[in-house]
Amino acid sequence: MSSPLVAIFEEQYRALRPRAPMPPFDIRFRRFTSLNTTIRLREGRLHVRLSDILEHAPESVHEAIAHILIAKIYKKPIAPVHADRYRRHVSSEAVSRQAEHVRQTRGRKRIFTAQGHHFDLNEVFETLNARFFHGLMGRPVLTWSAHHARRMLGHYDAAHNTIVVSRVFDRPDTPRAAIEYLLYHEMLHLKHPVSVKAGRRCVHSREFQAEERLFPHLDEAKAYLRRL
Ligand SMILES: [Zn+2]
Repeated sequence: MSSPLVAIFEEQYRALRPRAPMPPFDIRFRRFTSLNTTIRLREGRLHVRLSDILEHAPESVHEAIAHILIAKIYKKPIAPVHADRYRRHVSSEAVSRQAEHVRQTRGRKRIFTAQGHHFDLNEVFETLNARFFHGLMGRPVLTWSAHHARRMLGHYDAAHNTIVVSRVFDRPDTPRAAIEYLLYHEMLHLKHPVSVKAGRRCVHSREFQAEERLFPHLDEAKAYLRRL
């Protein structure tokens, strides 16, 4: 219930029915998926339900809605100025909501592609799996990142059992050792989950680091990543 809104409805009611007694209004916003609005007269009270999408609409739109609903229930002609005002608002609202929807679904959509233009992450994974893990590591979801991230070169997302490798490496001039090292590092995260010792998160434990040193071209690979 919003009293400025009640005042708007009372004003429109008065304009449409100058001599009739003023009924009490019960006006509420509801979560409608569409711009649904309803008006009902029950026991002398006018019950109005508006979509919450309209809650922050300009006052002139609230006036138009009040006019249209009251005219409708008392079978009065709807003034074109109010009909136009409402229609213009609804169409612009529909456009902006559609844009928002598209933006959200694009942001949420995750596309998994292990096959890049130059490197296949599944193939690199299986090579490393055979060479370092006796082929025993279960393959997580492997994917190139959607964007050319330079901050996050690679990361293992335990919640989604996914290793993401930055798209910047999917180039013909990337040394294979660099990609192998990146993936090997993330595979070690799978093997050595983050532990908590004395209240501190240990991401790269001593065991993790010892195993990382088994990678033959470790220094070269690290130097290449630093240059990037
Ligand atoms: Zn790490």
